[in-house]
Amino acid sequence: MRRKLIAGNWKMFLGIEEAKSLASAVVNLTDNNGPDILLCPSFILIPPVQEVVRGSHVRVGAQNLYWEEKGAYTGEISAMMLLDAGCTHVLIGHSERRQYFGETDSTVRRKTATALEKGLIPVVCVGETLEDREEGRTETVIENQISRALERFKAEEAAKVVIAYEPVWAIGTGQTATPEAAQEVHSQIRRWIKDRYDKEIADGIRILYGGSIKPDNATELFSEEDIDGGLVGGASLNADSFKAIIDAAG
Ligand code: PEP
Repeated sequence: MRRKLIAGNWKMFLGIEEAKSLASAVVNLTDNNGPDILLCPSFILIPPVQEVVRGSHVRVGAQNLYWEEKGAYTGEISAMMLLDAGCTHVLIGHSERRQYFGETDSTVRRKTATALEKGLIPVVCVGETLEDREEGRTETVIENQISRALERFKAEEAAKVVIAYEPVWAIGTGQTATPEAAQEVHSQIRRWIKDRYDKEIADGIRILYGGSIKPDNATELFSEEDIDGGLVGGASLNADSFKAIIDAAG
């Protein structure tokens, strides 16, 4: 049985005090009996948030990384820096990064490889645009994104990856995929992992759904067989709604 994971993507929101108080509320409102809980604040918020959650059941992840270890790469951050700051996970290839910052399947692959090599758990984001969906390309787009992200990875490496299926048209729009539509894509992803690797890896890998998860749609989404939790944007910025989503995964 896969343990569910609920990750909050705080994007470029919150100042230091707001972040600390939200992290503290999440620690206090939740416990170790539910899903795994991950907070992904912006880089500058990682140390103060880490200080708040240290010793608790809540983990901290980053929203991005760069593959080089160190060097003249202004504005970038390395896996070692994230590990030093206490991160356990890192989001890779979020659609906002693909859309606004030139991320491609090839950069996603390099970043995923670096995360795995250095000991961070990559949460690899994939998802189709509205146009892809309307033109019947969802399956092909998702399969291409995943196969490129995991290209040449051995089974034991692939087993450590978390995949987040986030239909681009559902992110921050209030439009959610129906549980059935999301389940269909999640089961395709699991089938692809099984064909590419084996059943054990496919059964073990966690596939999160993301795209306007709210307290009132979370229970239905999480009751689908292949939905192993969620990557939550907007609703993770409020302790009560994030807690309600965590409870729905409980
Ligand atoms: C996200 O940022 O990954 C996301 C799914 O955002 P939202 O929940 O706001 O749609």
